[in-house]
Amino acid sequence: EKVYLNGEIIPSEKAQISVFDRGFIFGDGIYEAMAQINGAFFYEEAHLARLAEGLSKINIRYDVGQIPQEVNKLLAATNLIGKDCFLYIQITRGVAPRQHAFPKDIKLTVFIYALPKVLPDINTLHANVITREDFRWSRCDIKMTSLLGNVMLNEEAMQHECYETVLYRSGMVTEASHCNVFFVKDRVVYTHPANEFILNGITRLVVIQLCQELGLELREQAVAIDSIREMDEAFLTGTSTQIASIRQMDDHVYYQSNNVGPITKILQEAFLRLKTIER
Ligand code: PLP
Repeated sequence: EKVYLNGEIIPSEKAQISVFDRGFIFGDGIYEAMAQINGAFFYEEAHLARLAEGLSKINIRYDVGQIPQEVNKLLAATNLIGKDCFLYIQITRGVAPRQHAFPKDIKLTVFIYALPKVLPDINTLHANVITREDFRWSRCDIKMTSLLGNVMLNEEAMQHECYETVLYRSGMVTEASHCNVFFVKDRVVYTHPANEFILNGITRLVVIQLCQELGLELREQAVAIDSIREMDEAFLTGTSTQIASIRQMDDHVYYQSNNVGPITKILQEAFLRLKTIER
């Protein structure tokens, strides 16, 4: 299928980047992922704003304002205009002799692909998850392409036939390998504050906004790994995951079989309404 690379739309097998691209050598780049739902990219502005912020955090100068028109070219070439699909954008610092410090005046590498993908209305997954120490670095707020920590931690979940690995740092739950994590206790919704220990998920922001609209108390406050058993409900959020109920965390069962906690359910339904309104 066709992909976008540095201004050109080309078949993926013809798309080439240098072995000296700093994305390849160092993982020196930022990426973004979003979904087209009902003819529009869901929270596109927020995704592009996060991309711009990530680029600026690592001193890559690029105007994300040009992305929508480039994406349109790609969607036209792949017959995906207006269709439900998944979009991946990656910007790396470009090609230079291998030296750690940022080289001056090099050309960025911009790569975009889109794949047809229809997300379920409501995620009916009842996720089993494991918990692990969050051994990643301390700038998890940067959506960088070097995802080895996340990849290794997610692989452990797969080894245990689980959907995700929920992470904790200094005894507090941060996020998961590719999702944010929420808990509910006595109708209060908890999630880790948006600092350098988590990626500030767009779905996380949407859920926070929905809590406000629904009059649910929301605290951006981390939950101790030692108190997960005392929580009433737990769920994951992410662009592809949407809102997924957690059935079991390690050996602690929140909800037997396919039951979903009442607050999780309210949020899933509100999220569905948000997706189906005209945007
Ligand atoms: N946390 C991590 C580490 C992620 O990689 C992701 C998404 O890729 C998320 C959270 C969820 O973010 P979003 O809701 O923007 O997809």
